[in-house]
Amino acid sequence: MLEISNLHVTVDGVAVLQGVSLGIPMGQTHLLMGHNGAGKSTLGWVIAGHEGYVVTAGSITLGGEDLLALPPEERAQAGVFLGYQHPVAFPGLTVVQFLREVLEAQQRKAGQPIDAIKTLKQIRAACKEVGVPETWLKRSLNDAFSGGEKKRMELLQMKLLQPRFAILDEYDSGLDIDSTQELSRFINDQRTPERAMLLISHSPRAIDYLDIDQVHIISDGKIVRSGGVDLVSELVAAGYTGLEAEAPAA
Ligand code: ADP
Ligand code: MG
Repeated sequence: MLEISNLHVTVDGVAVLQGVSLGIPMGQTHLLMGHNGAGKSTLGWVIAGHEGYVVTAGSITLGGEDLLALPPEERAQAGVFLGYQHPVAFPGLTVVQFLREVLEAQQRKAGQPIDAIKTLKQIRAACKEVGVPETWLKRSLNDAFSGGEKKRMELLQMKLLQPRFAILDEYDSGLDIDSTQELSRFINDQRTPERAMLLISHSPRAIDYLDIDQVHIISDGKIVRSGGVDLVSELVAAGYTGLEAEAPAA
């Protein structure tokens, strides 16, 4: 289980998350929605351990392990994966170099022998599965990639890393309809009893394509509603402002 409890976070002294609590049992996929600036991406960055986000109260645990006690690289090794809303470009670092480095770090950590040929085969197989052309492997990571191509790169990394907990921040932004459906199928296939996922989206259509167990609505750094997928129809009818007005006072 990924468990976030009463999480308070400040950025540059400003309170951005103000008591976020939510739990995602292994095997489940939850959807997080909320107005612009509500704190969705911040939640992802804090879980992944980015600098500059100061946790002033609360806890985050994965399978009972205290993630906040670990430096970012150890969180990744503990099985945390963040698919970025805006993946960063690395001119000069090719996709294949990057993926090999990431995978070899994981293999070293697990005490496995480094086998370059096997790793390359693994990368090629994952490319096929995620619909990434092999020609991308020689390109600079995310450099001159379209928005949709960057999202596909994030999912390729997830496929290779096999995380225990994945947050995919606006996984569908910049995707055309066909790609959204295709990548949603891929995400559904990533559901396993050993993995929990948190998907962030602005699109109410997300629930048409994805197997979602629970929906959470965040507003001004607090979860104001949690429930089944019906919550999305309520949201479409009332908007964030209407839904927040209905929320019971905390
Ligand atoms: P969302 O992803 O829900 O649109 P964010 O988590 O990106 O929202 O941002 C939440 C709030 O925190 C916003 O008001 C944003 O300006 C602020 N914030 C997030 N990160 C930073 C940062 N690095 N520096 C300053 N303000 C930040
Ligand atoms: Mg965001």
